[in-house]
Amino acid sequence: MCGIIGYVGQRRAAEVLTHALKHLEYRGYDSVGIAVKDGSTITVRKDKGMVDEVSKKHSFLTMGGSIGIGHTRWATHGVPCQENSHPHFDCTKNIVLVHNGVIENFQELKEDVLKKGHKFTSETDSEIVAHMLEDNLKSNSDVLSVMSDVVNKIHGSYSFVVMAGNKKELYLARKNSPLVIGIGKGEMFCASDIPALLPYTSKFVQLEEGDLAVLSETGYNVLDHNRKPTTRKEFSVNWNIEMAQKGGYEHFMLKEIHDQGHFITESLASDTTSAKKLLDKYSRIDIVAAGTSYHAGLLFAILLQREGKNAQAFIASDYPFVAVPTKNTLVVAISQSGETADVLQSIRFVKSKSAKILSITNVVGSTITNLSDEVVYLNTGPEIGVAATKTFTAELAVIYKLMFAKERLSSIKNIFEKMLESESEVKSVAAKLKNVKNAFFIARGISVPIAQEGSLKFKEITYIHSEAYPGGELKHGTLSLIEEGIPVIVIAPKDETSSKIIGNLKEAKTRGALIISITNDENIRKESDISISIPTLDDPVLYPFAMIIPLQLLAYYVSTLRGINPDKPRNLAKSVTVE
Ligand code: GLU
Repeated sequence: MCGIIGYVGQRRAAEVLTHALKHLEYRGYDSVGIAVKDGSTITVRKDKGMVDEVSKKHSFLTMGGSIGIGHTRWATHGVPCQENSHPHFDCTKNIVLVHNGVIENFQELKEDVLKKGHKFTSETDSEIVAHMLEDNLKSNSDVLSVMSDVVNKIHGSYSFVVMAGNKKELYLARKNSPLVIGIGKGEMFCASDIPALLPYTSKFVQLEEGDLAVLSETGYNVLDHNRKPTTRKEFSVNWNIEMAQKGGYEHFMLKEIHDQGHFITESLASDTTSAKKLLDKYSRIDIVAAGTSYHAGLLFAILLQREGKNAQAFIASDYPFVAVPTKNTLVVAISQSGETADVLQSIRFVKSKSAKILSITNVVGSTITNLSDEVVYLNTGPEIGVAATKTFTAELAVIYKLMFAKERLSSIKNIFEKMLESESEVKSVAAKLKNVKNAFFIARGISVPIAQEGSLKFKEITYIHSEAYPGGELKHGTLSLIEEGIPVIVIAPKDETSSKIIGNLKEAKTRGALIISITNDENIRKESDISISIPTLDDPVLYPFAMIIPLQLLAYYVSTLRGINPDKPRNLAKSVTVE
């Protein structure tokens, strides 16, 4: 999820690692650490804080040795602190590792390891792997084959880099979390991301899902997911650091839209067990959030109401003035940063009423987590673009995980991948909207919060006025604003609402609106001026995941066509810490 780096060669490893970690800083992180091997002694130095600060405080650059691993952590299991920072040792301090990602079955694995008498020094999910490797290496000294056995037991996402006391080699494993090998002369590198390595090499190999690899100063070998030796294509890049940080995309926002296909797996691996139990106990549920998270909250409320709960989503800044929670209310607070002032203010109000609080956030150790009875994490890594994209779908993912069986959610990744194929189509639609003054987004039922989120995305980065409505509301006032050429974006999956939304579409069309539909309904497509296709899904409750992608892309392309930097829209901040 955050940054990994590994080096083996002739240079002073600590210098390479520290320098490379600086180039991963743009991803956001909470802690830093490196492990370097000098002779057969491994030394680990790490702490909460920024690279410059931690490396100075713990004198990284005085560490000797020409092989090592480093990490910038974005906590998912255990608050940011020195103990939880990576790298992590086994009990013998002969094995050390760094990990990116989330180990979904870590509780169960940890219990096994604890029974065998291992002592833990952190609360992370990652440390268990060091102990599992330690156990298995007692009967088999081939580190790569032991890694293969250990990672086969892990559910979730990972990239690991492991260093063992007696070998000048690094061992790598990757599943659902990127890991790239950098090829040098008489030296080899690995990293979670290309920018870290650009000062050293321009020649890379991308590991594929399920691959294992070993690096020495003379080269590398890769095993595929069947543990057969394989070759992966070497490639060269001529990116500068800034381009590379954006993964070759023009903006972080576009990268983050594309990253959703990957991060959804991590979000769905989030531990919801205790939160689910809490949710089951309450019949009245108040959801408190702001902005994009409020839209996720609206959808959550619909899903809960369908289950017979008394659920309602509230705008956080208004909650204390309109709601009367009691000790029989469960308040669900949603905030990607965990620091949103309006949400925190609501939580403090709720506490005074003795209601229970379940929070959903992306930041472990954030203020919201300290004030809540239960927390579910988004596990989607830091988001750099101001306009929320991947944190919105991560919120939906954990909400759906709280509501539905896991098997029902397995197709979401494919839905994202399919929808991202519509990018060039959306781009050409964007060209038609770049000079409009107003836009309307309409939908019905479960799609309404998606229309609202699409409209918010649109206005915040294009500076074009836009509003979203349940389709049936148009005739109660807004229809008077519809005139020739005004775009009405109709979000209309083929479900129980299709026959109604087509009527609303016609109301707007008769008055000259430019109808742009996002749909898989042939009748709606025929009535539209422009239509973006979505696939037909067996499970209609999953349509929000399909519809949001073209809306995010539409906002992005209209914004860039208007010459705006979508990563930094005017007047807005990423984390809203004022009331
Ligand atoms: N899950 C691990 C932790 O909480 C790794 C986090 C990361 O990917 O940075 O330490």
